[in-house]
Amino acid sequence: MPGYEFWGEAEKKHVNDVLETGILMRYGFDGARKGIWKSKELENAITKTFGCKYVQLTSSGTAALTTAMAALGIGAGDEVIMPSFTFVASFEAVLSTGAIPVLVDVDETLTLNPTAVKNAITPKTKCIMPVHMCGSMANLDALQTICKEHNLLLLEDACQSIGATYKGKHLGTIGNAGTFSFDFVKTITCAEGGAVLTNDENVYTFCDGFTDHGHDHKGIDRGADLHPFLGYNFRISELHAAVGLAQIEKLDTFLAIQRKNHARLKNILAQVPAVSFREIPDPSGDSCTFLSWFLPTENNTKAFVEEMKAQGILEGNFYWYANNWHYIKQWQHLKEVKSLYNLHAEQKNALQKLQTQNFSASDAIMSRCISTSISLLWTDEQIDEKGNKMVAAIKKSL
Ligand SMILES: *Cc1c(COP(=O)(O)O)cnc(C)c1O
Repeated sequence: MPGYEFWGEAEKKHVNDVLETGILMRYGFDGARKGIWKSKELENAITKTFGCKYVQLTSSGTAALTTAMAALGIGAGDEVIMPSFTFVASFEAVLSTGAIPVLVDVDETLTLNPTAVKNAITPKTKCIMPVHMCGSMANLDALQTICKEHNLLLLEDACQSIGATYKGKHLGTIGNAGTFSFDFVKTITCAEGGAVLTNDENVYTFCDGFTDHGHDHKGIDRGADLHPFLGYNFRISELHAAVGLAQIEKLDTFLAIQRKNHARLKNILAQVPAVSFREIPDPSGDSCTFLSWFLPTENNTKAFVEEMKAQGILEGNFYWYANNWHYIKQWQHLKEVKSLYNLHAEQKNALQKLQTQNFSASDAIMSRCISTSISLLWTDEQIDEKGNKMVAAIKKSL
């Protein structure tokens, strides 16, 4: 997830264009902005690059998820099925709309297990939300089939998988809507920012209004805009969009380097028969931001982590099972409903049930999984050295 590794002159130039006019907001000030519309330009670049009809930029990926759910009509009492392995933003966004996050097991794709999804469907289910974790994808054919059978919405959280594809289509453009994050550690960054992608004009129109207090954006006078529905302020600024414009121009370069470095590291680890790799529904579409792999047992994996820590070389290797941000096991704040404000009873009940829900199938996968982040800056020699040290630590842990 390396956009920040390639900060340079192009980012400075686009930001300077905005600083020259001093118009930091994306709407209005038509004369003073002298033709500089970075947010609009970035939206055009996103539709072209990823092959979708419409895109709405937002202030973050979390805001993009909230916006997408609002635009899809997901709200109070609706159940949204999502994976036990994700980033906290996924359930934060569900809760913010009044909906209920229903967490289910992942499989060796590290994303939703389609059978677990099927088993979780109730009359209140409205949406399936796969999260394409760590640069690669969920089994979208299987999930789309379930959505069709049960008349459910498909919302793709592609925040971590910008540039990855499934059967030739970009992740984020396949469901009813999809989201990207441009936060500081994502594949391309705006510092902070996000986007909702969709091919549905109505969904787009709702996103456009929702992110700007419900403004209909039909006239040239903001003050005279009508408000056909309620909204919030989830706008991106021109400064952030300017950074994103420079970054999106480099996306192909980022992906090519990631894929090359990923393949080199994978070849080294593959020499150890005890190492297996994440299942990838469409291997040619992996964006290769991470190499995710398994050891045979939880004890082996913990021993590997301890050995790497002892040598001071663990950095860049993520053991999500013990991580506070990405896996159900450590989400005490969610399971104990530590909300600053009162949630409605249905939401509280659903969250408390997570304390006793059986996630042993997810545990059996996540407790053996390490994701190694792929840097754009590595030389081949550095990859070989890193890989060989990892192999030595793996052998010691077996
Ligand atoms: C980063 C991320 C988000 C949220 O993005 P922010 O821009 O940080 O709000 C949502 N989902 C996933 C899977 C993410 O990795």
